[in-house]
Amino acid sequence: MTAAAESTVVLDGRFAREFAEMAIPWRAEEAPDPRLLVLNGQLATELGLDPAFLETPEGLLLLIGNRVPAGATPVAQAYAGHQFGWYAPRLGDGRALLLGEVAHADGRLRDLHLKGSGRTPFARGGDGLAVVGPMLREYIVSEAMHALGIPTTRSLAVVATGRPVQRETVLPGAVLTRVASSHLRVGSFQYARAADDIGLLRRLADYAISRHHPAAAGAENPYLALLQAVVAAQASLMAQWMLVGFVHGVMNTDNMTISGETIDYGPCAFLDAFNPAAVYSSIDEGGRYAYRNQPLVAEWNLSRLAETLLPLIHEDQDEAVALAVESLEAFRGQYSTAWSAGMREKLGLHRNADDDATSPLVDELLALLQESPVDYTLFFRNLGMAARGQAEPARRMVLALAAFDAWTERWRALNPDAGLMDRVNPAYIPRNHLVEEALAAATEGDLDPFRRLLDAVTSPYEERPGLERYAAGAPEDFGPYRTFCGT
Ligand code: AMP
Ligand code: MG
Repeated sequence: MTAAAESTVVLDGRFAREFAEMAIPWRAEEAPDPRLLVLNGQLATELGLDPAFLETPEGLLLLIGNRVPAGATPVAQAYAGHQFGWYAPRLGDGRALLLGEVAHADGRLRDLHLKGSGRTPFARGGDGLAVVGPMLREYIVSEAMHALGIPTTRSLAVVATGRPVQRETVLPGAVLTRVASSHLRVGSFQYARAADDIGLLRRLADYAISRHHPAAAGAENPYLALLQAVVAAQASLMAQWMLVGFVHGVMNTDNMTISGETIDYGPCAFLDAFNPAAVYSSIDEGGRYAYRNQPLVAEWNLSRLAETLLPLIHEDQDEAVALAVESLEAFRGQYSTAWSAGMREKLGLHRNADDDATSPLVDELLALLQESPVDYTLFFRNLGMAARGQAEPARRMVLALAAFDAWTERWRALNPDAGLMDRVNPAYIPRNHLVEEALAAATEGDLDPFRRLLDAVTSPYEERPGLERYAAGAPEDFGPYRTFCGT
């Protein structure tokens, strides 16, 4: 490693500088024996970081915050949040640090962030650590989401620390290096609002506008425009989650971004069988964050965001509330427009096709899928073959054959575009049983299953010979599936 390679790593510390009220300077805990498990070379390059350098011992130290580039100020960010509906005034990065901001090749900034880097002043009872399995899980699921075209934080690397971590058993420790458009959350605004410092709240809103929704700056009421932009971004995100069958699992307001990126992959899962009531998280006993509830929860979370912005939206509180409510009301229409257009594409029909003609078709199909039940991802992929006249692979999956045949006839009369279907219906997603298998092997030191699965899910639409097992549904004996929070 040369001094030159090192000096090319330039991190700004804009958040640390401008938001001292919400940023505690802190250092990552030393890792006894860092070892690289996975590095996202392409993302590194896009960030102007040299992948070959990152793989060196010095590079690893940078990836886990044990070496801080000149000028950088790692901080633990403060935020509040509603967790399962209950307000917690002080959450914050208990085991994470923002290293700083870095310029991406697209000209916009990204946060470079660590997860599992040791206790911070926000750690409460936690140990500040993370383990190999859940960090690789965030890596693979976030990179799969990105490959599916869904806005998400990215994963740059997972480094095993060499530190044993006590969970139910002793597990190998790890740090995830995460990249995000920012780590501003609904909970960040809740924290600023609760601080009762209008200047801080305004600065935070201005910062969010400049980083994520710059068009709002030119609006007549920029803070209302910010709210509207976040509502629109989240409506679009929810539609994309629902269309691909993604269940986040822990949609607390501290886990919802202002940028519209998916964040904090903990007890998340993809639907196997199509079941609107699906819940995977072991801690979600009431099913608050069930698959079908996600758009409603997003709307609820956005209402919490709107509350924080009221003093900026209008000096008269009643006026402010009326404006915010009107903006929130746009969510439902935006969500359902995006979802319907996406569903039409999944059926090979054009986004702008007549909704009155296509929506009964969609509703009937989903009812059929639920009743059978069928594997959601595989069914849509097979339906692409039905558009080419080979109905059997999809037909075999459903129970009500006569209903399916009648449905297929009506659908094919609309001339579905099989090529379009193959571009929007993934063949490979991080299926729960495959993720579990890959993480179990990685925890034992064998990264091959993880690498193979990563390779499949990062080119999700391109079916390749030899990868049949990655496209297939879960084996009969798998499940009921339960996921655990990424601690
Ligand atoms: P999460 O459910 O991962 O979004 O985390 C919720 C809150 O708990 C955040 O404030 C985290 O920083 C904190 N947290 C989660 N796990 C740990 C841990 N092992 N040690 C310290 N804080 C943690
Ligand atoms: Mg979180």
